[in-house]
Amino acid sequence: MKAFDAVSAYRFMERLVKEVGNRESGTDRERQAAHLIKAWFEEFGLVNVRMEEFEVQTSRILKEDVSLPDNTRLACAAVGNSLSTPPEGVEGEVVMLESFSPEALKKIEGKIAVLGMVPFQKDFEKILKATPLALIFPSRTPLTPTIYRSVRAEYVEKQNVPAVSMAHDDVLKVLKGPRRLRIITEVEKVTAKSQNVLGEVPGAVESEDILVGGHYDTVRNVLGAHDNAAGTAVVLELARIFAHEKLNRTLRVAAFGSEELGLRGSFYHAENSENTQNLKLCLDFDVHGILLGELSAVVLGPEEVKSLLSFTAKELGISLRLSSELGMGGSDHMPLAFYGVPSVMLSRTGGAAQIMHTDLEDLRWCGSEAFAPVGKLSQTLLERLLKAEELPFEKKIPNEIAKALEKRFEDSGIRKKAA
Ligand SMILES: [Zn+2]
Repeated sequence: MKAFDAVSAYRFMERLVKEVGNRESGTDRERQAAHLIKAWFEEFGLVNVRMEEFEVQTSRILKEDVSLPDNTRLACAAVGNSLSTPPEGVEGEVVMLESFSPEALKKIEGKIAVLGMVPFQKDFEKILKATPLALIFPSRTPLTPTIYRSVRAEYVEKQNVPAVSMAHDDVLKVLKGPRRLRIITEVEKVTAKSQNVLGEVPGAVESEDILVGGHYDTVRNVLGAHDNAAGTAVVLELARIFAHEKLNRTLRVAAFGSEELGLRGSFYHAENSENTQNLKLCLDFDVHGILLGELSAVVLGPEEVKSLLSFTAKELGISLRLSSELGMGGSDHMPLAFYGVPSVMLSRTGGAAQIMHTDLEDLRWCGSEAFAPVGKLSQTLLERLLKAEELPFEKKIPNEIAKALEKRFEDSGIRKKAA
């Protein structure tokens, strides 16, 4: 069969970044990217190519402005789904929120609170009850610029607060200096349409499908090269090389929308039991293309899947960091595993991953060579599994992983839809 071509994968990433650019969840640009991906799926000769549409709660940022008492303006990004300030803004003392204890929370009443951590639903609601004037989310590391982010729509259904992201160093300057800021934001809530793009390479056996997927949307303003035009590019290249293969099992291909709003596309897909009942495995590609990086896999599935990955990586001489931890972030493998489909997230991590969701997230960190290991590994794995007489693992999620997923999604305000 055709071999995974790292240069071809790089070109898919490049075209998504250069021809579409920003692909913010629930926007026309996201839809434009979906149409481009759909056209590629059709061109490769996939069957049953279609869009899977769903609604998302999001917002448009109309105004964002942060200034010091001497009127010096600082870089900022209003947080999606947060509350608008009054037109003249809010002005107040800036304090660090150290924990979610009642004592710590008392200290932010009427103040602008800096959050050292990104809270889940319960703690976010505690923060809202403490009635701060506004919230500041600093960027991940010193010297990294402002991160574009949203709070989950579910967190702010009953109560809300103005919130902005700021660069770590600017927040530090404020805390060491004037300890006061003025914040003006205007955030418009909208219900928008988003979509997954789906296609298939049919196999002989019914009911033992394997899904490869990755999200193609981005947060606001960014080009989303490594997160995740690159993962989408891996999916596209796999679709291209498998499109005309004679397979025992059906290969399903998905480009997920609105991952950045809280895994919305993959949730919508996984909640529909018609999509998951015949699915035996999902490979999710999120964050790739980084030249200075290393391949890692998170396995939410049986030990056999882990062994298979580790064995194949060793066989091919590919270094692979393996774990079954959920980690702090999220990706589209999680909803699939939540609904019982063994799922693997493959990523290429490295220093440049730290600047995801900022203005720096462009092609400068990426190179075609970065696609070679993930391409070789996933092609080898898929070829084995799609052509095997019998699959070497059961469709089940180990108890510990299932529990961790349930806790994570409960913390995020998500409950399993009844089958
Ligand atoms: Zn991503």
